[in-house]
Amino acid sequence: MGRLFVITLEGRIYSCKHCQTHLALSEDIESKAFHCRHGKAYLYRKVVNVTLGESEERVMMTGLHTVADIFCVGCGSIVGWKYESAHEKNQKYKEGKFILERFKVSGPDGSNYWGSHGAQVGGSDADDA
Ligand SMILES: [Zn+2]
Repeated sequence: MGRLFVITLEGRIYSCKHCQTHLALSEDIESKAFHCRHGKAYLYRKVVNVTLGESEERVMMTGLHTVADIFCVGCGSIVGWKYESAHEKNQKYKEGKFILERFKVSGPDGSNYWGSHGAQVGGSDADDA
């Protein structure tokens, strides 16, 4: 890894709960109707300050997707995943977009969302159908 350039956002910011690195803006939220294993997850058009894990095929609630986990550049914790491609036609809108698990990030007002206990990530998604 080279030197990391951490981007500072302005506005209503979602940031890493552990290290407060800025991750996304509320205006970039596409949908709040997603779910991860622990509760809410939001779909964003854009996130910053993350690194991508390896792509893998994952069967989600809405079908087969190619996804990659995303990690905070500040502390390395997993914060969600990116949809690289969707196999179902009606899920194509997710491609290139990002999920941040709500319990992994602090909201614009500093609120923290605590899902059910446990810290496993990945696995499920959902849809706003
Ligand atoms: Zn972090």
